[in-house]
Amino acid sequence: MPKSCPTCSRTSNDAKFFGSFCEYCARDKLSARLANEVEVTWCKRCMRIKGKEGFVAPTGRNFETVMGSRFRGYSIHLVKLNRNSVVLDIAEETADGQLSVEKEVGIKYSKTLCDMCYKKSSDYYEAVVQLRGNPSKVERLAASLERYFERRNQFVSKIEREDNGLNVYLSDKRMASEFMSNKRLKPTMSYTLAGIKSGRKIYKNTYALHL
Ligand SMILES: [Zn+2]
Ligand SMILES: [Zn+2]
Repeated sequence: MPKSCPTCSRTSNDAKFFGSFCEYCARDKLSARLANEVEVTWCKRCMRIKGKEGFVAPTGRNFETVMGSRFRGYSIHLVKLNRNSVVLDIAEETADGQLSVEKEVGIKYSKTLCDMCYKKSSDYYEAVVQLRGNPSKVERLAASLERYFERRNQFVSKIEREDNGLNVYLSDKRMASEFMSNKRLKPTMSYTLAGIKSGRKIYKNTYALHL
């Protein structure tokens, strides 16, 4: 005996069924169950959006990943990215096969300053590289440091010009050490106590190099 949909009276001769409902009504029910709007946090300075592992560029692919984390248990494909909404293809596995629906979901943007932009705005630094010696070697190494940091999402906070060289202030001391060992440089290290955070002493590193 064919099934009959309790909502629209279509029978299983006319439509595919998911449980006791026809595919049309099952899709409407799925759509109604899903949120109409989701919140996305973005940085007002660099425009990046907040993903599971920090801030990422506002690309379609990254929006798709963020939406995936808002609709857990469904598989999500981004159909279209609009200014204040996304059109998503949202699919659910059921006992009767995959049920999918296309839905426009509004985006409520919540504004913040990401960690990196916050640090930039406050001239944050963890390490100073003192470059002395041959002026053109000093300039080249400073430029190379800047490129190295920016490619890896860190930054140079400021550069001070001294009579005999440059002081380059860097946002990340681990990356500074990594740079030194990659370039096989052997700086003279010193440490300055910068404060105490959760009971641990925090040091700023100084790397002195004579070129
Ligand atoms: Zn129906
Ligand atoms: Zn930012």
